[in-house]
Amino acid sequence: MPKINKDVCIGCGTCASLCPEVFELSDAGKAKVKENAPEGVSCIQEAIDSCPVQAISK
Ligand code: SF4
Repeated sequence: MPKINKDVCIGCGTCASLCPEVFELSDAGKAKVKENAPEGVSCIQEAIDSCPVQAISK
């Protein structure tokens, strides 16, 4: 599953809008991986590539 570097994430929401089944914004305004998120979804890579601060890694 992908990992979010919360120190780097700026909470822009791009990952959550591109891949809502895997990413969501937490109450703290940072991205997080949803519980029970499906693995191997192609939009994960899309989110990694689209994050403006490269906060998502696999
Ligand atoms: S795309 Fe990157 S910076 Fe934006 S919310 Fe997701 S992890 Fe954070």
